Amino acid sequence: VVSVGLLASSSAGDMRTQATLLLLGCACQCAALRATAFHKPTSFHATRAVEVRLSVAPPEAPDVESVQELRSPEELRKGIAKFYDSSSGIWERVWGEHMHHGYYNDNEKKNHQEAQVDMINEALKWAGADDNPPKSVLDVGCGIGGSSRVIARKYGNTGAGITLSPVQAGRAQALSDAAGLGDALQFQVADALDMPFEDNSFDLIWSMESGEHMPDKRQFISELSRVCKPGGRIIVVAWCHRDLLPGETQLLPREERLLRRINRAYYLPRWCSVADYAKLASDFGLEQIRTDDWTDRVKRFWPAVILSAFRPNSLLGLFRSGFTTIRGALVMPLMIRGQRRGLVKFGLMTAVKPESRVEAAARQASAVSSAPTRPPPPPPPPP
Ligand code: SAH
Repeated sequence: VVSVGLLASSSAGDMRTQATLLLLGCACQCAALRATAFHKPTSFHATRAVEVRLSVAPPEAPDVESVQELRSPEELRKGIAKFYDSSSGIWERVWGEHMHHGYYNDNEKKNHQEAQVDMINEALKWAGADDNPPKSVLDVGCGIGGSSRVIARKYGNTGAGITLSPVQAGRAQALSDAAGLGDALQFQVADALDMPFEDNSFDLIWSMESGEHMPDKRQFISELSRVCKPGGRIIVVAWCHRDLLPGETQLLPREERLLRRINRAYYLPRWCSVADYAKLASDFGLEQIRTDDWTDRVKRFWPAVILSAFRPNSLLGLFRSGFTTIRGALVMPLMIRGQRRGLVKFGLMTAVKPESRVEAAARQASAVSSAPTRPPPPPPPPP
């Protein structure tokens, strides 16, 4: 009974389903035991019980390639929307407008919200966006639009942001309107794997801690490349697993199990490494691909979030926001454990969409014709 209960609860999504499966599992197990105890034609009863048990609570569905995978893409989309609908309010009250890690130099003392803004600025600088400021930016997985506003103030660009959460999209627009950026920035509910934008639309594609939610990383990078303008840049900052060692084809079973527990709480599918993102970027013909590992730069963040959860108004907010938010909070120590074990990495990948020769020549020509004309050099002095 215990084993069936554990099987059931380890493969189910929410608490109600877990409880139902637990009861069903127990009932099946009792039927099987009873059949055996009373010497009934046991093979039939026992086989049926086992069949029901497997179909109700498959420990690993046969078409699932990794124990990390818990939900179908559709279940994920709904779960992510619900998770952020219910948790964004409390996060904003306790942490503000940015829903991502902070950036810390060694032993640097700083306010954690400042560290989150530093993360945006450092990632833009690292990627080289400062050298070629974008005129239009797409924020993929925009949360409540914190990154979009920091970037728009920095470069004076226009922009769009997408999220799966209707609450976040509304809040992102309201905060941008209030900040006087409402005309420049537009937010909407849309799926990053099927974006409602024309090809070649934006100079900069920004994805801060949303890639880990994407069940199809290939489709994710394909969509980012599609909507990026030729000559434009893509920046992906994401939770990654460690790179596989030579000869390894997958993570260790205990690593897979740890990620599975994180995935259940944060509505994540199977993870990939930063090298996988780089490989996908290359598959889609992107150029100037660079990656980095900032795990050491962010490791002070989770302990700070955990401490903040113990403030009285955070605790109250947590209980008000419901089960998924509480479960998310309880899993936070696992992120620290994953980082300490060298399994969980904070990865960055940037790449440029190549311009065709014609486009590059046209851009250079317009840069030359719009450059201020210099006076001719003075004639050489007479001998
Ligand atoms: N980038 C924001 C929010 C990070 S939280 C910030 O740094 O503040 C992750 C975000 O990814 C959420 O807004 C969530 O809705 C979004 N997201 C996850 N999967 C998505 C998908 N398939 N399409 C669009 N947005 C997605």
